[in-house]
Parts: sequence; C-alpha cells; structure tokens
Amino acid sequence: MLPLNDPQLLKQQIFVNGQWRDADSKDTLAIDNPATASKICDIASAGLSDTQLAITSAHQALQSWRNTTASYRAEILKRWHDLILENINDLAAILSAEQGKPLAEAKGEIRYGASYLEWFAEEAKRLYGDVIPSKQGSQRLLTIKQPIGVVAAITPWNFPNAMITRKVAPALAAGCTMIVKPAEATPLSALALAELAQRAGLPNGVLSVIVGSDAIAIGKALTDSPTVTKLSFTGSTKVGKLLIKQCADTVKKVSMELGGNAPFIVFDDADIDQAVQGAIASKFRNAGQTCVCANRFLIHQDVYQEFTDKFVAAAQKLILGNGADTGVTLGPLINADAVKDVHTMVCDAAKKGASRRLGGQPSSLGTNFYPPTILTNISANMRVFNEEIFGPVAPIIAFETEQQALQLANATQAGLAAYLYTQNYARIWRFSEDLECGMVGINEGIISSEVAPFGGVKQSGNGREGSKYGLDDYTEIKYLCMGGI
Ligand code: ADP
Repeated sequence: MLPLNDPQLLKQQIFVNGQWRDADSKDTLAIDNPATASKICDIASAGLSDTQLAITSAHQALQSWRNTTASYRAEILKRWHDLILENINDLAAILSAEQGKPLAEAKGEIRYGASYLEWFAEEAKRLYGDVIPSKQGSQRLLTIKQPIGVVAAITPWNFPNAMITRKVAPALAAGCTMIVKPAEATPLSALALAELAQRAGLPNGVLSVIVGSDAIAIGKALTDSPTVTKLSFTGSTKVGKLLIKQCADTVKKVSMELGGNAPFIVFDDADIDQAVQGAIASKFRNAGQTCVCANRFLIHQDVYQEFTDKFVAAAQKLILGNGADTGVTLGPLINADAVKDVHTMVCDAAKKGASRRLGGQPSSLGTNFYPPTILTNISANMRVFNEEIFGPVAPIIAFETEQQALQLANATQAGLAAYLYTQNYARIWRFSEDLECGMVGINEGIISSEVAPFGGVKQSGNGREGSKYGLDDYTEIKYLCMGGI
C-alpha cells in the first residue's frame, strides 16, 4: 500500500460505542490487496457479543441524538465531510489497496462519498411536516417527521467508502443512530471513515462499525434484534431477498439496493462518438463491478458496425494493472473467484455462438485480473444477457425496431439503470417512460449524484438514496390530531 501521511487512519480494530476494540473472541480477519494478492493487515473480527454491544450502544445514543437540533447534527456532518476531503490522499490509498480501483477513481469515490455528508447536512434542516386542512372546525391536523431509530447498514465491497456515507449521512441527519457492517473484503475504508467521524465530534454510540468473517451470524443478530428498526442493504439480489425475509419477524423497514442488468441502447440517430465515450465510462468504471454498469449493449443494426469498431478501439486503450501505478485505468477484480465467474460467463457465451472481438481470456498479470472484453453475436439465451456480469465484459446485440429494443431492454427481473442514446426527443420521452427501471441515462453514461435519487424497481430493490427523497427512508411520519379548538 502507498505510504500514508496519517498512519492513524489505518485502523485494525472494530469501532463500537466510540471505542476502538478487539473482538471479544480475539479473532482476526486478514485483509488482502487484490492487485498484489498480498496481505495489507489483520483486523479484529467481530462476533455476536460485539454486535450486541453495538446495538445496545446505538440504542442508548439514540435517546439524546434524536433530540439534538438539525443544525447541531449538520455541523458535525459538515466537519466530517471536510476532514474526509483533507485526508483524501490517504483515504484513496487505503481504498485502492483494499478494493483494487485506480487511485484517480478512488479519489473520485471519496469526493462522491463526502458529497452525501454535505448534502444531508443541509437536508437535515428541511425535514418539514405538514398542516392538513381539517374537515372539522374544532380540529387541527399536523404531521411531523421523526427518526426511525436504530438503523443497521450492510454494505458491499465495490464502493467501500461511498456506500457507507450514502446510508450514514441521511440516517444521522434524520436523527437516527447506525451500526455499519461493511463487506469483509473492504472494511478499512469504513473504519477510516469512523476515525474521522470521531475526530469530527460524533458522540459515542451514534455510529458503530463492526466487521467479521461470519457475515451471516452478524446479519442474523442485526435482523433478529427488535431494537434495530430499519435495515439498509446494498449487495446481491440473493442476499437482499434473504435479509428481507429475516426482517419480516420484527417488521423492519428495509431499503434494498440490489443487482442490476442495465441495457445500453444506441439508436441509429445517436451521436456515435458520444455513445462510445458513455459506453466506456459506464462499462469499465471499477472494472465493471458496479450495479449500474452497462450490462447489455443493444445497438441499432444500421450503426452496429460503426459503434462496435469504435468501442473496441476505445477499450483497447484501457491500461490494466495495479490501481496504485500511474497511468493504470482498469484495476483487478476483487478476487480470483470473481475472475472465474466472469470467465465462465464468457465461455458460456462463446459456446453458444458469441465472437470475442476483444479480450475474453484471463490476463497474464495475475489471478485477479481480467482484460476488457467485447463480445458480439449475442443472443438472449446466454448468461451474459440474463445475469449481472460484474466484470469488464461488454456483450453486444443488434436490434431492428424501437419495439424490439424495448422488449430486449425490459427482458430482465432487474430494473436499476438503463442508458439511451438518441437525438429524437419524442423517442427519449416514449422510451424513458416505458423502460422498467429506476434511473435512465439519456446521452449520458455516468448518472450517480448525491442530488439525484438512486434506486431500482422490480427485483433491483426498493427505497431511494440521495436527493430530497433520501431522508424519507430514515424517518417515520407521525400524525397529530388536535381537538377541542
Ligand atoms: P457481493 O456478491 O457483491 O459480495 P453480497 O450480497 O454477497 O454481495 O455481500 C454484500 C454484503 O452482504 C457484504 O457486507 C456481505 O458480508 C454481506 N452478506 C453476505 N451474505 C450475508 C448474509 N447471509 N447475511 C448478512 N449479510 C450478508
């Protein structure tokens, strides 16, 4: 890992009730660098009693935190935001080392992650209620919004920083307290964030970060607890469904950001160079390991050849390597299993008739690397068409009519993002309205922003993160009926 200016940001313990602690069991967990396959460090591996302590302290802290003013909470969130940006180089070094993404991308994620803290610090002050005209002259009707309580967050390894702040910021801004369980592959960024939160003056117990090798046991303790009133999860659809079931017994509110299978649709009237630029950004960001990555390229037959040739030429310019090295634009995948999964999908497509226009064989750089890969002659029975690829593989399929493109785009149970390239404004409206997804990029390949609502429909989940709607997931509406007036 690149040397840190502030080595105190590399934490090796869990953070519970404002204290840095070893696990009660003294168990540890090794954190590896996916680019070099070497160990970065060992960290404490939490178990049931540690999780229980985090829940109890979050509940205690809630009693005072929920009664603080929005401006008080906003001040702490703003200070935390500023500290993150002051330490961006160290945070990016930690993130790139544990996750693999190139340093420039890691810095982008940290700026993006911090933006949620600033945004929700401001939004906290606008948590308005309503006064409702009553049917009775003697009554006055009101609503107030209140924090939902103790929230648990379970987060994935693809955005070790931003997936944390996207949940913590609205929760804390609304007056909730939170226990974060980051992915066991990438907890160092979450722990570094907790260190900075403490420096920003966050009271003990308002935020705890626990991580352990037994995610199932920690998840069960969090979902079984009646004290935890909400779960916010980002991760695979399979685990999300399981967690929804686990939350049923205590009737928890859930927010789910699950897998995607985004279509990237290019019509014959599109600006092809702009589409290629968007395709590279959308497909190869984080080596294809994002839930909004373009997963299926649907290209009108009249521009299929031009788009494919230009896309291959642009993808050839990507530089695969260790994200800490200068000039590298495509890092490793998270681990060797991920490479195996991606390659198995490519082989399935090849066996069913796909052509490898670029890449398609494991890289000689190491077990965790997979090169940019572009496949043509794709059909709807291939795994790359039906499943989330989560790697740098772009399958291209040609279409003839708008109706056919829409049918292909919607032929999935996932409904997170979609991308649409055309200059025809009537088609933009028509198509955007008919796409079964939560977000549409129109002549744009990168759509995430703290000011906009992020989330999906169908089996991609529920709830929205960011934007003016983001606080809703962490609040309850209480109705007050005043009589005798
Ligand atoms: P991915 O396939 O991207 O690793 P997962 O859904 O497996 O996505 O993991 C996302 C997060 O969910 C991680 O923090 C992981 O530790 C956690 N997790 C995985 N399985 C479970 C489970 N059964 N219960 C609770 N958390 C889980």
